[in-house]
Amino acid sequence: MAEKILVIEDNEQNRVLMRQIMTRHGYDLLEAKDGLTGIEMARAHMPDLILLDIQMPVMNGFMVIRELRNDVVLRKIKVIAVTSFAMKGDREKALEAGFDAYVTKPIDTRTFPELVKQVLTQVQT
Ligand SMILES: [Mg+2]
Repeated sequence: MAEKILVIEDNEQNRVLMRQIMTRHGYDLLEAKDGLTGIEMARAHMPDLILLDIQMPVMNGFMVIRELRNDVVLRKIKVIAVTSFAMKGDREKALEAGFDAYVTKPIDTRTFPELVKQVLTQVQT
């Protein structure tokens, strides 16, 4: 069975790009336009991995990861942070917040699937 990936991203173009890359690599893709919907979808579908945009209105990626990591069930889901504005210390901040990995946009369409695969096969610590 194909692994399920949930993209939480407010920008449509970025969602389209993720959909293209991930479906090409054989994953089932779910999509949410905002953090609240994303959390609801995570609960309903229990994806193997979430690709979480940091810059979103109302509920940003850091608020979403906090909710996920504080939830007994959702905390098990792997989450990759995807961000446009990388600043010094952001990576550390993201890993501290509970993200499994951190990538900056524009994403590299060649190396990104490798990272996804890597995170999916990481053993939970
Ligand atoms: Mg955004």
